[in-house]
Amino acid sequence: MIVTKFGGSSLADASHFQKVKHILSENPDRRYVVPSAPGKRYDKDDKVTDLLYLCHASALQGEDFSPNLNRIRERYESIASELQIPFDFSCDFAAIAAALRSGASREYAASRGEYLNGKLLSAYLGFAFVDAADVIRFDTKGVLAEDETNRLLAQHLAQHKYAVIPGFYGADESGNIHTFSRGGSDISGALVARAINADVYENWTDVTGFRMADPRIVKDAQYIENLTYRELRELSYMGATVLHGDAVFPVRKMGIPTNIRNTNDPLHPGTMIRTSFGQENNVNTITGIAGSKGFTVISIEKDMMNAELGFGKRVLQAFEEHGLSFEHLPTGIDTMCVVIRAAELKPLMNSVLNRIQELVQPDQITIHEDLAMVATVGRGMVRTSGTAARLFTALATRGISVRIIDQGSSELSIIVGVDEKHFEMAIEAIYDAFVRM
Ligand code: ASP
Repeated sequence: MIVTKFGGSSLADASHFQKVKHILSENPDRRYVVPSAPGKRYDKDDKVTDLLYLCHASALQGEDFSPNLNRIRERYESIASELQIPFDFSCDFAAIAAALRSGASREYAASRGEYLNGKLLSAYLGFAFVDAADVIRFDTKGVLAEDETNRLLAQHLAQHKYAVIPGFYGADESGNIHTFSRGGSDISGALVARAINADVYENWTDVTGFRMADPRIVKDAQYIENLTYRELRELSYMGATVLHGDAVFPVRKMGIPTNIRNTNDPLHPGTMIRTSFGQENNVNTITGIAGSKGFTVISIEKDMMNAELGFGKRVLQAFEEHGLSFEHLPTGIDTMCVVIRAAELKPLMNSVLNRIQELVQPDQITIHEDLAMVATVGRGMVRTSGTAARLFTALATRGISVRIIDQGSSELSIIVGVDEKHFEMAIEAIYDAFVRM
């Protein structure tokens, strides 16, 4: 059994609906389909979800939301009429308008994009429609109730050989709609895959998979054929954005592979993500490079710091008290460096520094701003000697000085901190050293 999730750009218009139908007809094991709301058809187009948020904002101000709601309706109606699906949207749109007028929540409004797309797609495919409100369970605070969701999905889907389950939303026990964060249909798809213990979770989108580096920086960056879930975590944490970060957990737990595929290039195998690959899998030294700008390092220096019990704990306490989580923690004998996202730290900077002063009375605190972190990730690194030497030589040759080095003992990644102005150059240099050679 295969669960397929189709993103917004894969369902943006009638021609994409046809592609989806074709993909499903190619393999009868593709039994459960999780659609997003229609996305952009061209660069300046609007996503249906964004239009729904606008409708809700207008309704909240007591303004007329009908122009945007009509635009949404036209989008669905044009898909239905082009595909000759006999579908009457009158009741649905009347219900949405009435709900918006009587103060429906923002999440309810946003969820209607997936809801309507799911109904339309199920009519087009001849699959059953299973409303996510009945099978994806949240608590009243909007936190996913994983076990209950798993139970409800398994129970409902057992009744249908083929079904469409809209992505992005679910409901609490009283029927109030809740949504995941943006891009959350990926999570819905993973939950469905877990509940039915799918052989594969196929995530169909508008790219051919993960690339070894951001193509805006390395134009011809190769596609990654095989990726482990741990590598994926490292790469997405540092900025690679093909899949919603939370979509990994339900499937990874069950050992279900995720296959990223391109709706516009269905013959391409895309990227396969698994818990592990066998030894025979011919692995490159590195799998990918990712990174982001916008980090600050606070270095705290104190003589004999190493002998002061609880020093590190007190430094981190200062961050915890301010609700800040740190990203990396490289330490020396008398120095401790805390790497933190600048946007979160900035408004609290003075208060954090004062608290560190109070708690550990350091000799000196130095702040280094405008830092970019670059992660070079690869399960092959552990087996290859000289990886670090190659990486640092590549950076040095381009005159990039490395401010921070962080290599976990798992040897899955080497993370370096460089000045923001060197960010793109550093990624290119590493790519050249390992891939172009
Ligand atoms: N439609 C929602 C969004 O635009 C959810 C999704 O597409 O996954 O974020």
